[in-house]
Amino acid sequence: MSFLSPLLEVQELDLAADAARKRSEDLPERSRLPQLVAEGVAIEKRLSAARADRAAREAEEAGLGRAVSQIARDIESAEVERYSGKRFDQDEAKAHEKSQRELHEKQAGLEEQEMALLEAIEEIDARIEGEEAARVAHRAEVARMEEAIRKVEAEVEMELARLTEARQAICRGIPEEVMTAYERVRAQAQKAGRGAATLSEGRCGGCRIRLPSLEKTRMMAEPETALIQCPQCRRVLVRGSDR
Ligand SMILES: [Zn+2]
Repeated sequence: MSFLSPLLEVQELDLAADAARKRSEDLPERSRLPQLVAEGVAIEKRLSAARADRAAREAEEAGLGRAVSQIARDIESAEVERYSGKRFDQDEAKAHEKSQRELHEKQAGLEEQEMALLEAIEEIDARIEGEEAARVAHRAEVARMEEAIRKVEAEVEMELARLTEARQAICRGIPEEVMTAYERVRAQAQKAGRGAATLSEGRCGGCRIRLPSLEKTRMMAEPETALIQCPQCRRVLVRGSDR
């Protein structure tokens, strides 16, 4: 085991931390949430539209009800007048019959409209009931998703705390210069989070380049605490035992 072997252990911990964070970020529940929020907005919108629709039809129905009552009163008072003993000639009697007939027809027509409105209100009520049920189900779904996210976040947090602690213990033995170089390369894109690699049989374990033998000899001759980096990928090289 070489002096810098613990750096590879640090890298394993860092990769485990990356994976833990990715697990939290990639949660399907997390990507589903915005869509779910949009669905909730749509439900509320449909619900308030249905309620407004219901209120409008209810007002219309009440208006029709008043009109029907008024006609009933008109018919009644015309009847009272007709049979009050007042004399009606034939034309007046005919006109009375015609007017009453028309009033009855109008009343029947309005009552029909009223019935249709009551039916429409019933349908709207069913719609409102459906949307309210959808809202309850939707809220339960949001709560379930948020709970699933919270659970994984808590697990990941604990995992990260454990990894950080283990990392700190190992890092103490590694020269700062080496850690800095490792962190810098690790942060670069296309390095897959790997800032260190083994140097084994003259090859960089990161990018697989074979080092010129002169370069390899020079690296092998460096003190074991020295920072050596791959000339191609710049990863910190941890020398194996094959000197
Ligand atoms: Zn390399």
